[in-house]
Amino acid sequence: MPRPKLGQHFLIQNSILERIAVTACPTPEDLVVEIGPGRGALTQRLLRRAARVVAVELDPSLVEHLRRRFSGEPRLHVVEADVLKTDLAQWGRGPVAGNLPYYITSPILEKVVALDVPRAVFLIQKEVAQRLVAQPGGREYGLLTVHVALFARTRLCFEVKPSAFRPPPRVDSAVVLIEPRRPPDISDPARFLEFVGQCFRHKRKTLRNNLVETYGKERIDSWPEARLRAEQISLDQFTELYRRLA
Ligand code: SAM
Repeated sequence: MPRPKLGQHFLIQNSILERIAVTACPTPEDLVVEIGPGRGALTQRLLRRAARVVAVELDPSLVEHLRRRFSGEPRLHVVEADVLKTDLAQWGRGPVAGNLPYYITSPILEKVVALDVPRAVFLIQKEVAQRLVAQPGGREYGLLTVHVALFARTRLCFEVKPSAFRPPPRVDSAVVLIEPRRPPDISDPARFLEFVGQCFRHKRKTLRNNLVETYGKERIDSWPEARLRAEQISLDQFTELYRRLA
């Protein structure tokens, strides 16, 4: 029985599974790391496109199922672990793929963009996918957008309806392609993201109102952007504001 608490919505539509595998491995790969393999529907397709697949699954009963199902397949390594507590770079460099457990989408994205991987291809909630590709000024633009944009280029590849899953999730889904890139030249990315978090603390408030307590009136009031809201500020503008504070 699927365990809803672990985000278990299994993909049953072959064409979608194939498109995810092709997007993750457009050409043959030495290694792919899969997050949340479930019963192995995507795993099977990744094995056709990569010499080795490492699949990280938390649910012991699914791990047992996978080890039985793929017992004759030495190219698959099933790891029973929580993805958030696992070093995903330990097996080598390769794309990361998965139909993600939606309850931990954001921490997985934040973890994976910090890795040196050629690309990551994830099936996630459509609403989160839209936040990833949002532009300043839009309703979906927020801290997650800026966090991911700092480390990667992101593309929404295609949408997936609930009927492609068993059991169907309550929300629409989408596949995103994430390609890490060299981040802008920022001395301390973690502190930069803390600063961006402060800017977004109260989304409807201006930068001035969100920052004045920490950085003082004189400094913030001298900024031409002080009366804008964080959702109107691009990544380049955030890096410029952060440099001004340094
Ligand atoms: N890939 C399969 C498919 O498409 O049919 C299953 C995808 S299902 C949406 C998410 C999978 O992630 C489930 O198998 C679930 O048990 C697993 N999972 C949930 N939390 C996890 C965690 N913290 N670490 C690793 N896997 C997790």
